[in-house]
Amino acid sequence: MTGISALCVYCGSSNRVDPGYLEAARQVGREAALRGMGIVFGGGRVGMMGAVADGALEAGGEAVGIIPGHLQEQEVGHDGLTRLEVVESMHARKMRMFELADAFCALPGGLGTLDETFEIVTWKQLDLHDAPVLLVNLGGYWDPLLTMVAHQAEAGFVRPQHQGLFQVVDDIEALFAALEAASPPSVKVDSRRL
Ligand code: AMP
Repeated sequence: MTGISALCVYCGSSNRVDPGYLEAARQVGREAALRGMGIVFGGGRVGMMGAVADGALEAGGEAVGIIPGHLQEQEVGHDGLTRLEVVESMHARKMRMFELADAFCALPGGLGTLDETFEIVTWKQLDLHDAPVLLVNLGGYWDPLLTMVAHQAEAGFVRPQHQGLFQVVDDIEALFAALEAASPPSVKVDSRRL
Protein backbone atom coordinates (compact mmCIF):
# COMPACT_ATOMS: atom_id res chain seq x y z
CA MET A 1 0.00 0.00 0.00
CA THR A 2 1.36 3.39 -0.93
CA GLY A 3 0.44 6.90 0.13
CA ILE A 4 0.87 8.05 -3.44
CA SER A 5 -2.49 8.23 -5.21
CA ALA A 6 -1.60 10.08 -8.43
CA LEU A 7 1.63 9.61 -10.35
CA CYS A 8 2.66 12.16 -12.97
CA VAL A 9 4.60 10.51 -15.79
CA TYR A 10 6.87 12.53 -18.05
CA CYS A 11 8.06 10.60 -21.11
CA GLY A 12 8.76 10.77 -24.81
CA SER A 13 6.13 11.59 -27.41
CA SER A 14 8.08 10.06 -30.28
CA ASN A 15 6.82 6.93 -32.03
CA ARG A 16 10.19 6.37 -33.68
CA VAL A 17 11.80 4.64 -30.73
CA ASP A 18 12.66 1.07 -29.84
CA PRO A 19 9.32 -0.71 -29.15
CA GLY A 20 10.81 -1.85 -25.82
CA TYR A 21 10.41 1.73 -24.55
CA LEU A 22 6.74 1.80 -25.55
CA GLU A 23 6.17 -1.53 -23.82
CA ALA A 24 7.92 -0.25 -20.68
CA ALA A 25 5.64 2.80 -20.65
CA ARG A 26 2.59 0.57 -20.97
CA GLN A 27 3.84 -1.50 -18.06
CA VAL A 28 4.23 1.60 -15.89
CA GLY A 29 0.58 2.44 -16.57
CA ARG A 30 -0.53 -1.10 -15.78
CA GLU A 31 1.49 -1.38 -12.58
CA ALA A 32 0.18 1.97 -11.36
CA ALA A 33 -3.40 0.85 -12.00
CA LEU A 34 -2.85 -2.41 -10.14
CA ARG A 35 -1.82 -0.37 -7.10
CA GLY A 36 -4.80 1.98 -7.32
CA MET A 37 -2.55 4.84 -8.40
CA GLY A 38 -3.93 7.18 -11.06
CA ILE A 39 -1.77 8.47 -13.90
CA VAL A 40 -1.42 12.16 -14.75
CA PHE A 41 0.24 12.77 -18.10
CA GLY A 42 0.44 15.05 -21.12
CA GLY A 43 -2.78 13.79 -22.68
CA GLY A 44 -1.49 12.73 -26.09
CA ARG A 45 -1.90 9.38 -27.80
CA VAL A 46 1.56 9.40 -29.33
CA GLY A 47 4.74 7.63 -28.24
CA MET A 48 5.31 6.55 -24.68
CA MET A 49 2.75 9.00 -23.35
CA GLY A 50 -0.05 7.21 -25.19
CA ALA A 51 1.33 3.84 -24.07
CA VAL A 52 1.35 4.83 -20.37
CA ALA A 53 -2.30 5.82 -20.58
CA ASP A 54 -3.27 2.68 -22.52
CA GLY A 55 -1.56 0.51 -19.91
CA ALA A 56 -3.41 2.21 -17.05
CA LEU A 57 -6.78 2.06 -18.78
CA GLU A 58 -6.50 -1.56 -19.88
CA ALA A 59 -5.75 -2.55 -16.27
CA GLY A 60 -8.88 -0.71 -15.08
CA GLY A 61 -7.03 2.33 -13.73
CA GLU A 62 -7.38 6.05 -14.22
CA ALA A 63 -5.46 8.25 -16.64
CA VAL A 64 -5.97 12.01 -16.64
CA GLY A 65 -4.41 13.93 -19.52
CA ILE A 66 -3.60 17.64 -19.67
CA ILE A 67 -3.03 18.98 -23.15
CA PRO A 68 -2.66 22.50 -24.54
CA GLY A 69 -5.21 23.23 -27.27
CA HIS A 70 -2.50 23.94 -29.84
CA LEU A 71 -1.01 20.45 -29.38
CA GLN A 72 -4.23 18.53 -29.58
CA GLU A 73 -3.72 17.77 -33.25
CA GLN A 74 0.02 17.16 -33.14
CA GLU A 75 -0.01 14.87 -30.11
CA VAL A 76 -3.46 13.46 -30.97
CA GLY A 77 -5.46 14.03 -27.79
CA HIS A 78 -6.22 10.60 -26.33
CA ASP A 79 -9.98 10.10 -26.51
CA GLY A 80 -10.44 7.15 -24.16
CA LEU A 81 -9.17 8.79 -21.00
CA THR A 82 -10.76 9.07 -17.59
CA ARG A 83 -10.53 12.84 -18.22
CA LEU A 84 -8.81 15.03 -20.80
CA GLU A 85 -8.31 18.64 -19.76
CA VAL A 86 -7.54 21.11 -22.54
CA VAL A 87 -5.53 24.08 -21.28
CA GLU A 88 -4.26 27.30 -22.82
CA SER A 89 -0.51 26.87 -22.76
CA MET A 90 2.47 24.66 -21.97
CA HIS A 91 2.85 26.53 -18.70
CA ALA A 92 -0.74 25.85 -17.73
CA ARG A 93 -0.24 22.18 -18.59
CA LYS A 94 2.77 21.82 -16.35
CA MET A 95 1.07 23.67 -13.49
CA ARG A 96 -2.02 21.50 -13.73
CA MET A 97 0.07 18.31 -13.80
CA PHE A 98 1.85 19.61 -10.70
CA GLU A 99 -1.48 20.30 -8.96
CA LEU A 100 -2.96 16.90 -9.67
CA ALA A 101 -0.04 14.60 -8.87
CA ASP A 102 1.67 13.69 -5.65
CA ALA A 103 4.72 12.00 -7.16
CA PHE A 104 6.58 12.53 -10.44
CA CYS A 105 8.61 10.19 -12.60
CA ALA A 106 10.55 10.57 -15.83
CA LEU A 107 10.81 7.69 -18.26
CA PRO A 108 13.10 8.00 -21.28
CA GLY A 109 12.14 10.92 -23.46
CA GLY A 110 13.33 13.87 -25.48
CA LEU A 111 13.66 17.59 -24.96
CA GLY A 112 10.11 18.06 -23.66
CA THR A 113 10.68 15.35 -21.08
CA LEU A 114 13.89 17.04 -19.97
CA ASP A 115 12.12 20.37 -19.61
CA GLU A 116 9.28 18.92 -17.56
CA THR A 117 11.59 16.87 -15.35
CA PHE A 118 14.01 19.66 -14.59
CA GLU A 119 11.23 22.11 -13.96
CA ILE A 120 9.81 19.88 -11.23
CA VAL A 121 13.33 19.24 -9.84
CA THR A 122 14.17 22.95 -9.75
CA TRP A 123 10.85 23.77 -8.06
CA LYS A 124 11.87 21.25 -5.42
CA GLN A 125 15.29 22.90 -5.17
CA LEU A 126 13.45 26.13 -4.37
CA ASP A 127 11.33 24.38 -1.71
CA LEU A 128 8.13 24.93 -3.68
CA HIS A 129 7.25 21.29 -3.04
CA ASP A 130 8.77 18.17 -1.53
CA ALA A 131 7.15 15.52 -3.71
CA PRO A 132 9.11 12.43 -4.74
CA VAL A 133 10.76 12.75 -8.18
CA LEU A 134 12.08 9.56 -9.77
CA LEU A 135 14.26 9.22 -12.82
CA VAL A 136 13.66 5.81 -14.37
CA ASN A 137 16.99 4.92 -15.90
CA LEU A 138 15.83 2.09 -18.18
CA GLY A 139 18.81 0.39 -19.79
CA GLY A 140 21.02 3.25 -18.60
CA TYR A 141 19.15 5.71 -20.88
CA TRP A 142 19.75 8.64 -18.50
CA ASP A 143 23.42 7.83 -17.73
CA PRO A 144 24.79 10.74 -19.80
CA LEU A 145 22.45 13.10 -17.96
CA LEU A 146 23.60 11.76 -14.59
CA THR A 147 27.19 12.32 -15.71
CA MET A 148 26.27 15.90 -16.60
CA VAL A 149 24.68 16.57 -13.21
CA ALA A 150 27.71 15.05 -11.42
CA HIS A 151 29.91 17.32 -13.54
CA GLN A 152 27.79 20.34 -12.56
CA ALA A 153 28.16 19.41 -8.89
CA GLU A 154 31.91 18.95 -9.26
CA ALA A 155 32.23 22.37 -10.86
CA GLY A 156 30.25 23.93 -8.00
CA PHE A 157 27.13 24.84 -9.99
CA VAL A 158 24.95 22.25 -8.30
CA ARG A 159 25.11 21.84 -4.53
CA PRO A 160 26.18 18.29 -3.70
CA GLN A 161 22.99 17.68 -1.69
CA HIS A 162 20.85 18.83 -4.61
CA GLN A 163 21.89 15.75 -6.55
CA GLY A 164 19.49 14.01 -4.18
CA LEU A 165 16.48 16.06 -5.29
CA PHE A 166 15.60 13.20 -7.57
CA GLN A 167 16.02 9.50 -7.00
CA VAL A 168 17.39 7.26 -9.74
CA VAL A 169 15.81 3.83 -10.20
CA ASP A 170 16.96 1.28 -12.75
CA ASP A 171 13.72 -0.44 -13.68
CA ILE A 172 9.97 -0.43 -13.23
CA GLU A 173 10.04 -2.77 -10.26
CA ALA A 174 12.40 -0.37 -8.47
CA LEU A 175 10.17 2.56 -9.45
CA PHE A 176 7.15 1.07 -7.69
CA ALA A 177 9.21 -0.09 -4.71
CA ALA A 178 10.40 3.51 -4.30
CA LEU A 179 6.86 4.85 -4.70
CA GLU A 180 5.56 2.41 -2.11
CA ALA A 181 8.21 3.64 0.34
CA ALA A 182 7.53 7.31 -0.48
CA SER A 183 5.24 9.79 1.24
CA PRO A 184 3.03 12.27 -0.58
CA PRO A 185 4.25 15.87 -0.46
CA SER A 186 3.89 17.77 2.79
CA VAL A 187 4.68 21.06 1.03
CA LYS A 188 3.14 22.18 -2.25
CA VAL A 189 2.83 25.87 -2.98
CA ASP A 190 -0.27 27.29 -4.52
CA SER A 191 0.45 26.80 -8.22
CA ARG A 192 -0.53 30.44 -8.93
CA ARG A 193 2.77 31.38 -7.30
CA LEU A 194 4.81 29.37 -9.76
P1 AMP B 1 9.47 14.93 -25.86
O1 AMP B 1 10.23 14.38 -24.68
O2 AMP B 1 10.19 16.05 -26.56
O3 AMP B 1 8.98 13.87 -26.78
O4 AMP B 1 8.19 15.62 -25.24
C1 AMP B 1 7.46 14.98 -24.23
C2 AMP B 1 6.32 15.83 -23.80
O5 AMP B 1 6.82 17.08 -23.33
C3 AMP B 1 5.35 16.16 -24.94
O6 AMP B 1 4.04 16.02 -24.46
C4 AMP B 1 5.63 17.61 -25.24
O7 AMP B 1 4.47 18.32 -25.60
C5 AMP B 1 6.11 18.12 -23.93
N1 AMP B 1 6.96 19.28 -24.14
C6 AMP B 1 7.66 19.62 -25.23
N2 AMP B 1 8.31 20.79 -25.06
C7 AMP B 1 7.97 21.21 -23.82
C8 AMP B 1 8.26 22.36 -23.07
N3 AMP B 1 9.07 23.34 -23.49
N4 AMP B 1 7.72 22.46 -21.85
C9 AMP B 1 6.94 21.48 -21.39
N5 AMP B 1 6.62 20.38 -22.05
C10 AMP B 1 7.11 20.24 -23.25
